[in-house]
Amino acid sequence: MTGRIVKNISNDYTVLSNDKLYVCKVRGKIRNLKIKPLVGDIVTFDDKNNYILSIEDRINELRRPPISNVDQAFIITSVKEPDFSSNLLDKLIDIIEFNNIEPIICFTKLDLLDNLDSIYEYINYYKKIGYKVFLNTELNEISKVFKDKVTVFTGQSGAGKSTLLNNLDKKLNIKTSEISKALGRGKHTTRHTELLPINGGLVADTPGFSSLDFRDMTKEEIRDNMIEFNEYKDLCEYRDCMHLKEDNCEVKKQVGSNILNSRYENYIKFITGDKYENSSFNFRNKR
Ligand code: ZN
Repeated sequence: MTGRIVKNISNDYTVLSNDKLYVCKVRGKIRNLKIKPLVGDIVTFDDKNNYILSIEDRINELRRPPISNVDQAFIITSVKEPDFSSNLLDKLIDIIEFNNIEPIICFTKLDLLDNLDSIYEYINYYKKIGYKVFLNTELNEISKVFKDKVTVFTGQSGAGKSTLLNNLDKKLNIKTSEISKALGRGKHTTRHTELLPINGGLVADTPGFSSLDFRDMTKEEIRDNMIEFNEYKDLCEYRDCMHLKEDNCEVKKQVGSNILNSRYENYIKFITGDKYENSSFNFRNKR
């Protein structure tokens, strides 16, 4: 039979298959492959003896939380308290894209803003370049995107993640808040990742992407995951253009019109960040 691992506690792997749960062990054959099964893995298993027989290739694999085959990541983005950070949002989008996960942007706390013009400029821009964008008040629309998907949540603390989860599914929030409470007390709790059913899909019960950085990415990968730049790169004079100081760079030409200023400015910061401080590039507009 085929199913998905939704929970792992030491050597017990809970596999979900046709709405039923099977607690399985791993047999020597798989252990020999030196692949540790992960929550999220699609596996074939022997439902008589409850053994995992094989693991399908993963479309992606996250370290923290340890989970595989994630389809989408909700980026909970506050517009006030904490203030909106286009830099953090663009960073998260870039890294999530790099991991072959679909970013979904959810803006929260719009009621705390007096003037919505500038935030709607962002909302419209991210929609224009192809992302799903929601306001946290659009619960009906949000609840529809979980079906048949594995979802993780990310975003600044205080951005309203638990409120949103609570509004979507009370059971889910109770679980996550218990966990964060336990962690907050500094108790040595055994953490395990679990996928919980919600609206026809599965949601990871951990904060997700707890420490996101560009460590594993090259400058080229950071560039290539600014997805809208790719629409113009073929018109750049240099095939490997980094869209910086090169002559006849089409991406730079589009900044301020088809490319949002902040997207380009954030990109520059990403590839000149700490990791790249010894870079041979120099930027006039570095702050
Ligand atoms: Zn260019």
